[in-house]
Amino acid sequence: MSDEAVVYSSLNLAEVHLVRSLLTREGIGSRVRRQFLAPLMGEIPADDARAELMVSADRLDAARAVIDAALAADQTERDCPACGEPNPGGFELCWSCGADLPMAGDPVVLPGGG
Ligand SMILES: [Zn+2]
Repeated sequence: MSDEAVVYSSLNLAEVHLVRSLLTREGIGSRVRRQFLAPLMGEIPADDARAELMVSADRLDAARAVIDAALAADQTERDCPACGEPNPGGFELCWSCGADLPMAGDPVVLPGGG
């Protein structure tokens, strides 16, 4: 078994899970690890603990390429048409409800017009 490496980390656990789904779709195995803060800082709620996405070290380059491609595709945040949650650019599915997101170039109807 090879070593693991952190390929992605965020304070937003849902975002880490979404990135993990991107890797899974590309056939790259990964797991999410919560990095809790030191016990002395116990007043900080667990939701503030950083989540890390781990892949085996020999897949690190491939995993990074998948994530880079997804993030480079579109840096513009998009609101989910189903639930209204903002999603980072490059994500095809809403991290909150899993609905399809409109891709860049799709006509976007802005509320209230422009
Ligand atoms: Zn949604």
